[in-house]
Amino acid sequence: MAGSVVVLGARLRTLRSMSRSHDADAWQVTPLESFPPFEQWDDWVEYDAKAWPRKVEKRYTLVPTTCFNCEAACGLVAYVDKETNEVRKLEGNPFHPGSRGKNCAKGPATLNQIQDPQRILYPLKRVGPRGSGKFERTTWDHVLDTFAAKIRESIVAGRLTEVMYHVGRPGHDGYMDRVLQSWGVDAHNSHTNVCSAAARLGYALWSGADRPSPDHENSKFMLLLSSHLETGHYFNPHAQRIIEGKMRGAKIAVIDVRLSNTASMADWWLATWPGTEAMLLLAFANVILSEELYDRQFLEDWVNWRDWLDAQAATAPKTFDAFLTELKAHYARYTPEAASAECGIDRQVIVDIAREIGKAQSAFASHVWRNAASGNEGGWQVARCLQFLCVLVGAVGAEGGTLLNTQSKFVPPPFLKPPPQNAWNELLYPREWPLSHHELSFLLPHLLLEGRGKISAYFTRVYNPVWTNPDGMLWEQVLRDETMIGLHAALTPTWSETAQYADFVLPMGHGAERHDLMSTETHAAKWIGFRQPVQRVVAERAGKKVDATYETNPGEVWEEDEFWIALSWRIDPDGKLGIRKYYESPYRPGERITVDEYYGWIFENSVPGLPAESKKLGMTPLEYMRRHGAFLVEKDVYDTHLRELSAKELEGTTTDAATRTVKSGAKPAGVIVDSKPRAGFATPSKRLEIHSPTMVEWGWPEYATPEYIESHVHRRHMDRSKGEMCLVPTFRLPTLIHTRSGNSKWLYELSNTNPVWIHPEDAERMGIETTDLVRISTRIGHFVNKAWVTEGLRPGIVACSHHLGRWRLSDDVGTDKWASAKVRRDDLGGGRFRFRRLEDIRPFASSDPDSKRIWWTDGGVHQNLTFPVQPDPVSGMHCWHQRVTVEPARPGDEYGDVEVDTKKSMDVYREWKAKARPASGALRRPLHFARAVKPSAEAYRMPN
Ligand code: SF4
Repeated sequence: MAGSVVVLGARLRTLRSMSRSHDADAWQVTPLESFPPFEQWDDWVEYDAKAWPRKVEKRYTLVPTTCFNCEAACGLVAYVDKETNEVRKLEGNPFHPGSRGKNCAKGPATLNQIQDPQRILYPLKRVGPRGSGKFERTTWDHVLDTFAAKIRESIVAGRLTEVMYHVGRPGHDGYMDRVLQSWGVDAHNSHTNVCSAAARLGYALWSGADRPSPDHENSKFMLLLSSHLETGHYFNPHAQRIIEGKMRGAKIAVIDVRLSNTASMADWWLATWPGTEAMLLLAFANVILSEELYDRQFLEDWVNWRDWLDAQAATAPKTFDAFLTELKAHYARYTPEAASAECGIDRQVIVDIAREIGKAQSAFASHVWRNAASGNEGGWQVARCLQFLCVLVGAVGAEGGTLLNTQSKFVPPPFLKPPPQNAWNELLYPREWPLSHHELSFLLPHLLLEGRGKISAYFTRVYNPVWTNPDGMLWEQVLRDETMIGLHAALTPTWSETAQYADFVLPMGHGAERHDLMSTETHAAKWIGFRQPVQRVVAERAGKKVDATYETNPGEVWEEDEFWIALSWRIDPDGKLGIRKYYESPYRPGERITVDEYYGWIFENSVPGLPAESKKLGMTPLEYMRRHGAFLVEKDVYDTHLRELSAKELEGTTTDAATRTVKSGAKPAGVIVDSKPRAGFATPSKRLEIHSPTMVEWGWPEYATPEYIESHVHRRHMDRSKGEMCLVPTFRLPTLIHTRSGNSKWLYELSNTNPVWIHPEDAERMGIETTDLVRISTRIGHFVNKAWVTEGLRPGIVACSHHLGRWRLSDDVGTDKWASAKVRRDDLGGGRFRFRRLEDIRPFASSDPDSKRIWWTDGGVHQNLTFPVQPDPVSGMHCWHQRVTVEPARPGDEYGDVEVDTKKSMDVYREWKAKARPASGALRRPLHFARAVKPSAEAYRMPN
């Protein structure tokens, strides 16, 4: 029922409105009636909940900002107590087009992060050896001078690959790209290859756009391969629209080896064998083709079928009918019977779902993000095969269908854009993986250990590789080594397993203490959300002049925007390096820009409709955004590929009537559809590429079309007699933030254990019961965890959530005590290490009385340390699923034990590297392939 949607804020408010109206229809209506009227945001009065049953009034100033606890960028409103100036709570922002006033549990938990008694308030400098946990307070001046000198030295010497900025959750669109390009360095590293790189490649091969934006609420059928829809990725904006679609009559099928939150709301839960998902998707395609449920006109207009015929059926006539015949023949082997045997799904269910997709036609919404794409070797083909279904039924970009992120994401440009850097950093994009969709970030230690470069200045930001990435002990090794990483600054508001190895720990603002501009592809609309420092806004509303955000943040907490401006200014104080001009005010020539000016300029010049809307309310665009926190730029952004090319775009082009292609020279520049020249898609052919010439040219001809690749964890590779099983570690609990829940007492109170899920049949075979200790052995080590016997996954596999198991080595430094167990790290020699738990999570004294009330003790087990790196040979994505042995704990094993052999992990790295096919031509990578912070075309050239 509607009220059971896991969107916390919405439900509470719905209940409130029901109690007022006693209206049985209230469940269907779900009005958000209890938002304070906008006119009262400066002085909102509520009874103090803590004073109950007395009626004590509290007066608040309400300040909108944006959540930073996942990438969905939902709107928040901070309730600031007018008496104390303290933020008392954070709720949803009704003006936000993506979240529409609703949040998940993690949004309001921003309050815990702000008030965390263990947060870092002052810049710190290491005084002992790296990793010793010894730090002292330093000054921001010293930090800026130290890094400015180091970076300047690298730039002046032309060593443009020795600076590295490594980000986990960016929380903004493009700000750092501009900073790094203004320095001219090739320095951007991300976390994407442990997250979404595989799915991105699968999508990009079709259309050039690397992520989907499903129109769930208007769909007729949803096929989802992402437990994260309701447990992480775009959690709340997608979840609310999935349920709205369902309430309007849409059906949902979920493919997931595990009973996810999304699966629990679905009409079909398809628990495939891990790694066989592409086979299942191609069986759907087979039924759609053989029963002619496809959209013939869409295929003829928009698919590069002529290229497909040339490559796959060279002797066939060059007609669309011949293409259909050959296509059916090509995919004939993916029968429902074959898929049933391979995937473990009933044949009739496969046929039924294929027919539902065919029935939905263009209102078929689908989504895969991490899940099967990130677990398996060849996972990128899962996304490609899923998008194949959208193409077959004409759902690409359509109302109720699956839009492209390029349709619904809006990134307004700032003033003065630097040129692309003319450098290529092989620590980011090594030549073995020319088609990797993002940086090979998780291989950084392995590349450094192979002597393939070094780093003089390294920034980690919202990034905790020691804990998040596979092979964390190798990360620890290189982070300790000053010959590989010269200077390391961890930009973080809170301690982490990685920050303890840094030279400088620099406290940056939480979500309500910083500026950022974001847009995410939550639905069929373009919008921007403005994250802003709440205390700064309150001070300014009170008439105080604020020059920098740190003046109103606690302690000496900075915001990154101002840090990068200050650092860039010091790198190039006189402007001779050509950097300073990007940080000079567009309003006050020669003077340093402020954040008000930076965002004010964007809102005035780059956001269509915002200046006019602001004017109506008698505000400047910046004032509008400070008051509302978000702006809807455009709604109903459907069918953008149908955009007619302008006269300017058509200048100098020709039309090939036979192929209905607009050409600029020899290159396609558009597609003729309905006798009009259309923009098409961002591919070399301007069509949806069922045949990818790029895959052929770059050494993978066998994958020129969507196909099924057998995963490294296929059950054929498992020796059941030895107890081998597939471990699925690609999910998390819906209340946890990737690696950043440790400073939130509410979230840890909700979720604090990550047992190993085991099916009853397997548990019985092994004599294991819930809470028994089990030893899970990977190729490089093992961990010991408790078992949870459940029918919520298919037999033959085990699963473990990846967002728990935080640890610290010392009492005062390391991960927050709400979340972490104290451990001992033993060097066993020969590259082997063991972590043993010394203390459970337990109450501690602090300024927050709740810290003495901690009742949870567990905190979970850190499984990722025991995973070797497994870079997919094509996408470069780390293939998370592990072949493991599962057994009852051995004598001497203790809960939380983790043991790793780093020599073995290097062997596994080399084994996977050998599967890749390095670039061998004139270029390092296809020029049309996206690259985070794309360098100049010249930099793509392979050195002689
Ligand atoms: S879905 Fe993400 S952005 Fe939205 S409230 Fe939850 S954590 Fe915050």
